[in-house]
Amino acid sequence: MSYRNGLNRTATKLDKPLSSSSNCNSSNGGKYLAPSPPPSSPAPAISKPGSPLHPTSASSRRTPQRTWKHDSGVSGRVRVAVRLRPRNAEEMVADADFADCVELQPELKRLTLRKNNWVSETYEFDEVLTDFSSQKRVYEVVAKPVLESVLEGYNGTVMAYGQTGTGKTFTLGRLGEEDIADRGIMVRAMEDILAGICPEQDSVTVSYLQLYMETVQDLLDPSKDNIPIVEDPKTGDVSLPGATVVEIRDQAGFVDLLQTGESNRFAANTKLNTESSRSHAILMVNIKKHVKVPVEDLDIPNENGLSMHKSKGSYPPTVRKSKLIIVDLAGSERVDKSGSEGLALEEAKSINLSLTALGKCINALADGKSHVPIRDSKLTRLLRDSFGGTARTSLVITIGPSPRHRGETMSTIMFGQRAMKIENMMKRREEFDYKSMCHKLGMELERCFAESERQNKLLLDVERKLEERLEETRRAEKNLECALEKMASERARHQKEHVEVLQNLEIERTERLRMENELQAAKSDMKNHKEVPEPSKDVNDEILELKLQLENERQSRQQAERELRILKSGVPSQYGNSESTEIMILSRRLENEIQRRTKLEDEIKRLQNQLSQATLELEAKSSASGFTSFGLNSLKTPMIVNHNFESDLGHNLDTGRPQDHVGLQKLLSLLESQDVGIQVQAVKVVANLAAEEAHQEKIVEAGGLHHMLLLLRDSEDETIRRVAAGAIANLAMNERNQELIMSEGGIALLSRTADNAEDPQTLRMVAGAIANLCGNDKLQLKLRDDGGIKALLKMVNSRHSDVLAQVARGIANFAKCESRGVVQGSRMGRSLLIDEGALPWIVGNANNEASSIRRHIELALCHLAQQDVNARDLVAAGALRELVRISRECSREDIRMLARRLLAGSSIFQSELRRLHIVP
Ligand code: ADP
Ligand code: MG
Repeated sequence: MSYRNGLNRTATKLDKPLSSSSNCNSSNGGKYLAPSPPPSSPAPAISKPGSPLHPTSASSRRTPQRTWKHDSGVSGRVRVAVRLRPRNAEEMVADADFADCVELQPELKRLTLRKNNWVSETYEFDEVLTDFSSQKRVYEVVAKPVLESVLEGYNGTVMAYGQTGTGKTFTLGRLGEEDIADRGIMVRAMEDILAGICPEQDSVTVSYLQLYMETVQDLLDPSKDNIPIVEDPKTGDVSLPGATVVEIRDQAGFVDLLQTGESNRFAANTKLNTESSRSHAILMVNIKKHVKVPVEDLDIPNENGLSMHKSKGSYPPTVRKSKLIIVDLAGSERVDKSGSEGLALEEAKSINLSLTALGKCINALADGKSHVPIRDSKLTRLLRDSFGGTARTSLVITIGPSPRHRGETMSTIMFGQRAMKIENMMKRREEFDYKSMCHKLGMELERCFAESERQNKLLLDVERKLEERLEETRRAEKNLECALEKMASERARHQKEHVEVLQNLEIERTERLRMENELQAAKSDMKNHKEVPEPSKDVNDEILELKLQLENERQSRQQAERELRILKSGVPSQYGNSESTEIMILSRRLENEIQRRTKLEDEIKRLQNQLSQATLELEAKSSASGFTSFGLNSLKTPMIVNHNFESDLGHNLDTGRPQDHVGLQKLLSLLESQDVGIQVQAVKVVANLAAEEAHQEKIVEAGGLHHMLLLLRDSEDETIRRVAAGAIANLAMNERNQELIMSEGGIALLSRTADNAEDPQTLRMVAGAIANLCGNDKLQLKLRDDGGIKALLKMVNSRHSDVLAQVARGIANFAKCESRGVVQGSRMGRSLLIDEGALPWIVGNANNEASSIRRHIELALCHLAQQDVNARDLVAAGALRELVRISRECSREDIRMLARRLLAGSSIFQSELRRLHIVP
């Protein structure tokens, strides 16, 4: 019942200005429950919030190693509501005649306490709850704001203070089992907590304790009857190690726990022979709530040098740890009053020590005193964060209406008024959730390891495969290199062969052209012979020359065919089509050439036959007239020389241009080369050129003949001397050259060459040269004087048919000139041949097996027999028998006839024939 008589109110004391009642920045300021300083250090004068001296400041306690943080702090005064209990049955009776001592003005949040009929005092509270206020309203006004803060990460305290029986337990601890509307603050608080967390990841744990006579007892486990209070010297956190901690999953579990606690409290109090009103019941609820805090709002210190990656917009795992303490204090009856009720003073002191200490601390804080005796009791130690600390604290003071307890009521009101002056600095604690982060990182690390292992294996596989490929490539490269090298060498070989074939073809072509020209010339010669029966020049020799050429051609052709066959068989299939095709074309061309040559050969044979016929006729005529001439075309030795060089030079000589002369000079200068090989090649070219009548004059003009003679004299190489002798033989076909050779001592040089010769072909050349000189009428005597005939006769020792044939030809030429001289009357006397002792050899070889020898000697004998002056010598040498044989057996009819005429025309022969009884 409220006191309604305002007139009785004589004094109204506003302990605090109205305007400041709800002002967080109260002029009173918040004073902190500072722990007692260590004995050695002086107490701080005045601790101000945020001061570095403030030992309980969370920020000052925080060490760099911790990763939790408080926000900068929100000023929050301890809020105090007053609740009036309705009159109980006893009061209804006892106080029936008295008015209530309190009058409430809830809308003005004022309470007026009537001291007596004349004096009353009015107090203002944060909330004034009338005797008919519902439990729900009480919860919302007193506890709800604290619960909201707790769920946001701040610590919170809800505490009931008041005289025994005024409804502290009713306000805090009612379970509301009969009537749900009766549920007290504890049950409703847990309902809000469970609704505000995420049961999968957040946790709510509860400890329920009783503080009696400075002993902390566990209401959830009565065996734990002296639990120590431990304060973290760094953070100031208070904990009760050993107290039972129960995790709350649901509301029913919590209610069961409260029931257990209540029954244990009753049992304990019975055992200790006390009452609940003399103990403090403390419910401690710890909440761990995971929240998503934007990283930029986190202040995560860098630990151990590790830098935390803070990317904007990310939410690292953060946990908010908060603690709600609900304290149902023991009755606030004064000690003296308790004592008056028969309790031992000591016991009463002990029972109310904590409460007294709390009152002292609150007074000290309210008065802004420097020393707050926080360590004086276990209760103040447990509540150090609730008053002047970082928690949001809400205090409900319970009072009764009875004027009999006015003093107690007054005391309670003053406690509440003092508490309202205490300013807390609420700070939230957020911790970086290392545990879950570690778990997540561990999982991630394991995944990374597994992935890395997999990648490593893949990498190894790839590396191995690459290595294999590399090895294969190396092998392939090596094979390719070998194949390329082989191909290159094969190609070079085939190109070389190709060039050689082309050269041979060119040679063939040139030879063929030359042969055609000669054939043409021979044809026209023959024509002339037929028309004009003049003595022609050495038709026989020309035939010989043609034969030799033919032989050369054949050999060349065979050589070319052989090369072609080798080429064909040697061309590997892998060679390009172009090369095979080219070789095919070449071989076809070669075949064409061969065909054309065969035709040419046939033509030559035919012409040879004609020529033989014509020669016989001419021979007969010449013999008759004494004119027989021998050329040296047969001496054109096939020499392997640089054909291109030769033919080019030959062609150039033909043109007769000045620069050609220069070419010849150059060629001749090569004869003086120190290199024997070059000398050999050069002399061969000169010799071949000298075989052509057209070149002879130019060669002699350029000094070629002189050079050849010098080579005979000076060269130590027999090949050079042999070829030079051949060249001289060729040049000796010309009458003027013959004189030149003689004048330059040619006979002596040739003779010496013959003496030193080892190769019969050298002798053949020398003999051929002398044989040509033997055909010159004017040189007969000088030839004999220079030893030419002697040299010829000396060479018969070689017995080589080629040499003997040339000797025989020389003798025949010589004899022919002598007989011509006799006919012309320019000569008299015995043949020089007979003088030089040639007759025995002539007679001895007149019937030589080799026709090339025999026919020359037969002719020579005939020429000798034509001169009567020789007749006796011939008879003496036994030549008559040979002449008879010639007249009978000679293959040439004209010679047979000539021999017969000579035998018949000489008296000496006739008489001798008769003497010998030979019938010619
Ligand atoms: P305390 O814990 O302060 O000693 P209790 O809560 O035990 O007091 O209350 C004592 C008695 O008063 C109890 O029977 C309780 O039911 C009753 N009571 C207390 N407050 C009220 C109230 N506001 N309305 C009705 N009954 C109340
Ligand atoms: Mg109680």
